[in-house]
Amino acid sequence: MKNPFTEAYRSLLDIFYPQICYCCQEELADRDENTCLQCRLSLPRTNFHKQKVNSFTERFFGRVPLQYGLSYYHYKKGGNVRKLIYQLKYHGKKELGIEIGRAYGYELAAVEDFKAIDLIVPVPLHPKKKVIRGYNQSDMFAIGLSETMEIPWSPDILQRKVFTNTQTKKDKFDRLGNMDGVFHIPKPGLIKNKHILLVDDVLTTGATLEVCANELVKGKNTTLSMATIAMAS
Ligand SMILES: [Zn+2]
Repeated sequence: MKNPFTEAYRSLLDIFYPQICYCCQEELADRDENTCLQCRLSLPRTNFHKQKVNSFTERFFGRVPLQYGLSYYHYKKGGNVRKLIYQLKYHGKKELGIEIGRAYGYELAAVEDFKAIDLIVPVPLHPKKKVIRGYNQSDMFAIGLSETMEIPWSPDILQRKVFTNTQTKKDKFDRLGNMDGVFHIPKPGLIKNKHILLVDDVLTTGATLEVCANELVKGKNTTLSMATIAMAS
């Protein structure tokens, strides 16, 4: 049953703060949506879930043994996917990450091969960034995927080490992109005999994903796949 107070409140919200499409800025009819249907349908999909070998898996060829490499969208400069990622990361729109994950997970759940995946693991965010942002955008994507794929996710498998002041040299290396030893797995027994889906927001060079992956494949009989919201070409 509709709550008249909630309905009235929402009507007021619509007048003073209309919900707009994150892509085209047009006013949305439905407050619960983030994008209009037209923009949503025109987002550039990769369809990597239909090709076992694709430009995602090729990017990691010779670097990390991957079962599957998946990305929902192509990431292009000035494109709508970029606008969505920006809202997710810098405008506190964490719900958007969950919704994208749900939608993608719904499509992935229809592929028989992906039923072999046991656990979804997000790339941890730098603790300082997490304090500023309040959440890890990769966790949000993982939550959505987990719901529709019906596969558990865990933010505790892979952890990012916090270096103390006496280790500032290490911190400096981290900023320069050398991430050896930055990630660790406190309980390796939890990934034993598991097919892990490592997830992140955007695949660019793949440096961070690679470092995480190298920790995960140290697990006993652990196999690995990756999924991102978007991939930059
Ligand atoms: Zn739109």
